[in-house]
Amino acid sequence: MNCRQAERWLLRSFDGRITAEEAEKLREHVHKCSRCQRLERDYNFLLPLLRVDAGAEPLPFFQERLQKKLAALARPTPEVIWQPILVRAATMALIGLIIITGLMILVLPVKSPAVSQSEALVFQSEEPFPEVQQILNEAQPEQRNLRLMFSSLEARELSRRYFP
Ligand SMILES: [Zn+2]
Repeated sequence: MNCRQAERWLLRSFDGRITAEEAEKLREHVHKCSRCQRLERDYNFLLPLLRVDAGAEPLPFFQERLQKKLAALARPTPEVIWQPILVRAATMALIGLIIITGLMILVLPVKSPAVSQSEALVFQSEEPFPEVQQILNEAQPEQRNLRLMFSSLEARELSRRYFP
């Protein structure tokens, strides 16, 4: 028996496809041949790993536990459900606050800053001398001029009276 034959029988012996006589011959060769001893050792280590059917039986309740795990993975946790809703609610609240603040600024009466007298005259078109306007509206130019003269004299007199 040569090493090639021994290797073939060695492989067959792992599958149980070897006769007792062949097994005996193989024993004899392996006992003498260090190369085939190494080979047998390697096969003893490797072949059980390559056998898929051996020890492939799933643990009890494996199916149930797997399905439970898959269901847990598929079902989002409560935090994952609530987080986007909370974020959206907070955003909406912030936008609402901004809108309300803006409306309050627009709607609430703005306390106008104190204007000086001359500003009031310009912006609020307050007539400083109503009688002057009345005079200017009058038709006759002569009468107008006269009355303007008199009113200016009156005004000077008033100012002299109040601010000596
Ligand atoms: Zn050999």
